[in-house]
Amino acid sequence: MKTWEELVCKAKELAGEAGRKVTDVADLAKQKIKIAENEKAIRATLEALGRLLYDSRRGDEELQEEMVAELVAQIDELAAANEDLQAAIDNNSGKKTCVVCGNANPSGAAFCNNCGKSLD
Ligand SMILES: [Zn+2]
Repeated sequence: MKTWEELVCKAKELAGEAGRKVTDVADLAKQKIKIAENEKAIRATLEALGRLLYDSRRGDEELQEEMVAELVAQIDELAAANEDLQAAIDNNSGKKTCVVCGNANPSGAAFCNNCGKSLD
């Protein structure tokens, strides 16, 4: 069985790889790969978080609040990076990303298909 220490190390390793410079990734295929890598790192981090909580509830380990905060921040960072990447992809494909809800609308849309906000 994997310990949370191993899971935390793995999650950090994945996040370190995935979190690297997203801005100089121009190519669409590379952007999509980057999003998938970030999602993988998010899943690994969530697993590590879950293991931390599980072990603490079982009484095997004391819940380390600092570690929890660090992992939560890591997930937020990766999720934000993915939002930026997705917005860049949408912009490049001519789609209009809504500033209110983030929905990717067709290039000709005047209003957001999701929330109705004017897109001009
Ligand atoms: Zn919207």
